[in-house]
Amino acid sequence: MVVAQESEGTASRVAVVGAGIVGVCCALYLQRDGRQVTLIDRQEPGQGTSYGNAAIISGTGVMPVATPGILADVPGMLMNPQGPLAIRWQYLPRLAPWLFRFVAASKPARVEEISKALAALLAEARPAFKTLLDAAGAPDMIVQRGLLTTSTTEAGLKSIEKKRQLLERHGIAVERLTIEEARQMEPGLSRDLTGVHHYPNNAHTIQNYRLVTLLAEDFVRNGGRLQRGNVVGYDIGRAGPRAVKLEDGTALDCDAVVLAAGAWSKEAGRALGATQPLDTEIGYHLTLPDPALQLRRPIASAEGAFICTPLEDGLRIGGTVELGKLGMAPNWERLRILRQNAARILPDLNFEGASRWQGFRPSMPDSLPVIGPSPSLPNTYFAFGHGHLGLTFGAVTGRIIADLAAGRAPTVDATPFRADRF
Ligand SMILES: Cc1cc2nc3c(=O)[nH]c(=O)nc-3n(C[C@H](O)[C@H](O)[C@H](O)COP(=O)(O)OP(=O)(O)OC[C@H]3O[C@@H](n4cnc5c(N)ncnc54)[C@H](O)[C@@H]3O)c2cc1C
Repeated sequence: MVVAQESEGTASRVAVVGAGIVGVCCALYLQRDGRQVTLIDRQEPGQGTSYGNAAIISGTGVMPVATPGILADVPGMLMNPQGPLAIRWQYLPRLAPWLFRFVAASKPARVEEISKALAALLAEARPAFKTLLDAAGAPDMIVQRGLLTTSTTEAGLKSIEKKRQLLERHGIAVERLTIEEARQMEPGLSRDLTGVHHYPNNAHTIQNYRLVTLLAEDFVRNGGRLQRGNVVGYDIGRAGPRAVKLEDGTALDCDAVVLAAGAWSKEAGRALGATQPLDTEIGYHLTLPDPALQLRRPIASAEGAFICTPLEDGLRIGGTVELGKLGMAPNWERLRILRQNAARILPDLNFEGASRWQGFRPSMPDSLPVIGPSPSLPNTYFAFGHGHLGLTFGAVTGRIIADLAAGRAPTVDATPFRADRF
């Protein structure tokens, strides 16, 4: 049940908690509506999970992570801690309720519903970024050069062919290439592949961290307030949150709050009603400053669950999934595997000087973000849980939140993303 919004559409001072890609885009869209927006983060903008992702603005992200048959993969995930999908045994009891919902979301009928909702969000993802980037004078931060997915095994190839059917049903273009055709597009590719698929609609940003920081700078240039601080609570009245409380004792007055604290949204927003089953899928990256290969477009691995993306400052190899706990210490051994698997598809890569990173995806068990009003407080909006696609869906989420806060009907039906769906 969504509580009636007492002063919906009239809140003039909005506090956005979290300055990752999602929070920054929410702040910008709210600002475009004439709101006075304060964007709060305990770090500089973009230093959470948005710092190290694989920079893909997906053109194909309509598949939930849990697909039919996922249950059969769970024992393998437990047995092989270095696999592309892994679970740490010691977290299994704590993860069980989330995993239960995750498996429930993999039923064919539910997968179909989830895919529909993701496809609707995806259709608006790029246009929503274009609005913000044009206004910031940085339209070239996102480029559309497609993506290649390589397979190195028959099983990998089969899984991509299966996905292809679903993508084509959503009108998403997929081309099967011969290895030689693929090597003409990317000469650095190994000859030792079982298949390559091309996704021409895929886009990427030339630097994901710079994308967040330049959007945050635009927000400040337009009169927005950026506040550094750790959010520890809220002053809540009849009309919802009246102030956001920081650890240093500061209270920031507001008429509405948007919770966009990524994987930390539950701990930062429990008092706002953020009790949804948010957990984390841990990922890693290596960034090669001098990769020795000039990729024109990102290249993904069907088996390794990672993507190699050419950035303006090197080649990012990012991905893999480890179900664990927020704040868990990095398992750098996973990078050795990432490196080995990347070298299988791009044998000439130079790893010298590579930097490494661990990040926490904010993941919902049904692969759908939470975008909408708090189920328990007026003038409170949630924008978290974007999992594998938080960069892709950052701008469209901001636009939906601004629409909801203004009492306008969003151009994307936000019903599948509502917070009270669990
Ligand atoms: C390896 C990897 C690869 C990925 N690749 C892609 C990709 O190619 N494409 C894609 O679309 N997505 C990708 N993702 C997912 C994407 O990075 C995330 O979904 C996205 O960054 C989430 O953004 P966010 O703004 O919600 O969270 P964050 O970027 O984590 O921002 C949340 C912010 O909230 C702040 N915060 C938290 N608690 C508090 C508090 N109490 N007080 C103040 N501030 C607080 C944090 O400091 C942080 O800055 C990838 C993720 C990983 C790990």
